[in-house]
Amino acid sequence: MEKEASRCGDSENDKPPDTDIDSSDCLNESNIEKTSAATTTVAKSLPKNSIATVEQLSNFVNFDSTARKALSEIVKKYHMLITPYYFSLIKDPNDENDPIRKQCVPSLEELFDNPEEKIDPLDEEGTSVTNILVHRYPDRVLLIVTSRCFMYCRHCTRKRLWQENNVEPTLAEIQTSLDYVRKNEAIREIIVSGGDPLTLNQERLDWILEEASNIPHIQVIRIGTRAPVVFPERITRSLCKILGKYNKLWINVQFNHPAEITQEATEACRRIQKLGIPMSNQSVLLKGINDTPQIMKELCQKLQAIRVRPYYIFQCDEVVGASHFRTSVFKGIEVMEKLRGHTSGMCVPTFVIDGPQGKGKIPVGPQYMISMSPAKVTLRNYNNEVIEYHNPYSE
Ligand code: SF4
Repeated sequence: MEKEASRCGDSENDKPPDTDIDSSDCLNESNIEKTSAATTTVAKSLPKNSIATVEQLSNFVNFDSTARKALSEIVKKYHMLITPYYFSLIKDPNDENDPIRKQCVPSLEELFDNPEEKIDPLDEEGTSVTNILVHRYPDRVLLIVTSRCFMYCRHCTRKRLWQENNVEPTLAEIQTSLDYVRKNEAIREIIVSGGDPLTLNQERLDWILEEASNIPHIQVIRIGTRAPVVFPERITRSLCKILGKYNKLWINVQFNHPAEITQEATEACRRIQKLGIPMSNQSVLLKGINDTPQIMKELCQKLQAIRVRPYYIFQCDEVVGASHFRTSVFKGIEVMEKLRGHTSGMCVPTFVIDGPQGKGKIPVGPQYMISMSPAKVTLRNYNNEVIEYHNPYSE
């Protein structure tokens, strides 16, 4: 099939919204059938013609028989699913170094066993208080509402959710997790994640957002999704009607390379922004994809231009099958050194290492303080100029 022609469409009656969509027209919408949320978990608007097998992939990418056999083993171990839209962003499907291809097409390097790598590198299971609720920090929780994604990123930290025996959370399990939040008033934020929550049946998503919003001490609900990046058509009129109802909502996305910021992705973000929902981006530092200051600067500047705040750059976690993506920590520091001061502070995310075994996010970056005494601090700026700064007297 022709790549361009294969871009996924949406169902006839659920087209992306017009540019003049007015979310206020849905505020009184009361025709959501809540009971249907219990019976089905998958959204109607899923990509058509996604690439899910090595055979399908072989229609576009040349593999010899040995590679094909190895890839079949990899796909059995770690799912593959590539949306036609995302695949169409690959310039040359036979170029193994293409930054888009690297994120979605399995590589033989995934079979490399590295003893440091784990199926659950952040010990999310060990810090869970229910089977789907991770409570690691005092004031926020992570609610894993699905294990499905529109596309399975090869560097994903949550490969444990891809295992065959993994079943989708039931409504009762989600309710139990929300009950835990209801009883813990120190929790002010729920991160709704997965998998990709936008793969959910919309009634179920609506129900989760409504239940979470109705908890008085919850101030922020954050959805983590890659839909605008890998399946921008998912940001439909009917989805926007649901999202627009909740004024506690933030959306976090994961753009990793400037080539992902297309017209389609920009439009998808704009539809979300028109609902008044703030957007931030969490990139993963990936070897051969975005691990140079130039690429990361271009990405962050493009994100700012589409009003998506660059929030984090993550060091790639020690997850199974991803050692070929992991860079030295020094590389991340070098990237940060070339960002801070060299472009607007609004374009500068925080580089973090997510501590193994659930130790939490630790910011890492260049050192700008050379020395410190009660009388003065000695600093350097982004141009390596040394500055003495008078330290005001304090008790
Ligand atoms: S969208 Fe997120 S959860 Fe899904 S495969 Fe990609 S990184 Fe993992």
